Amino acid sequence: MLQGFLQGIKELIFPDNCFLCRTYLNSHHQKQLCPSCLSEISWNSPPFCLQCSRHLTAFNRQGLCPNCLKTTYAFDTAFSTCLYEGVLPVLIYAFKYYGKTLLKKTLGHWMIDSIETYHVPIEKFDMILPMPLHAARYRERGFNQAELLSSAIAQHYHLIHRTDILTRWRPTPSQTLQDAKQRWTNVSGAFRINHPLDIADKSILIVDDLLTTAATADAASNILKDSGAAYVGVLTLAITP
Ligand SMILES: [Zn+2]
Ligand SMILES: [Zn+2]
Repeated sequence: MLQGFLQGIKELIFPDNCFLCRTYLNSHHQKQLCPSCLSEISWNSPPFCLQCSRHLTAFNRQGLCPNCLKTTYAFDTAFSTCLYEGVLPVLIYAFKYYGKTLLKKTLGHWMIDSIETYHVPIEKFDMILPMPLHAARYRERGFNQAELLSSAIAQHYHLIHRTDILTRWRPTPSQTLQDAKQRWTNVSGAFRINHPLDIADKSILIVDDLLTTAATADAASNILKDSGAAYVGVLTLAITP
């Protein structure tokens, strides 16, 4: 009875409402989202693009999505958990700009679930790094959303988590406001490597929230490879469809 009473108090103080629609969540629901909002999530599913993992809507002999038919990247492999459509943009926006860091639990779990479902060979990586934010943006936001995800994954798989290797030394304007061509020119040369000896001949996994043109992931992978990394993978919560 005391336990029930304490649970009642807890629910009054910390009501478990769906993050998106505010529906009350009882303890049977997956935390933070109600079943109806959860059913609105588009999961990235096979067939996957061989380069970027984007779900292929049409078959082609190369096994590549339209974006990847035009370009190759410095990273060796990539995987994304969700497609950036439906309620995902709202979730990521809230996660990034309103400091809804509590969502990291749910979003990190989704990433881990998809790693398991699709047998992403996470054990081959020596180290996991978050995609860095420029220091000024970090100060303004108070956290790096990619770091919240990368730390959840590193913790789960007991991987070395380093936030000091890859830094962004040139602030880039918010990517959401730019067209694809600008994105590619903006990010080249935006990164710097510290402690290059620590990544020499290592397999590195970069974690970010979103993959769009892959320009940022490509630039970061490029400098990691130039600095001696043997293999670079990119893991993101979402990818544009
Ligand atoms: Zn809901
Ligand atoms: Zn692709």
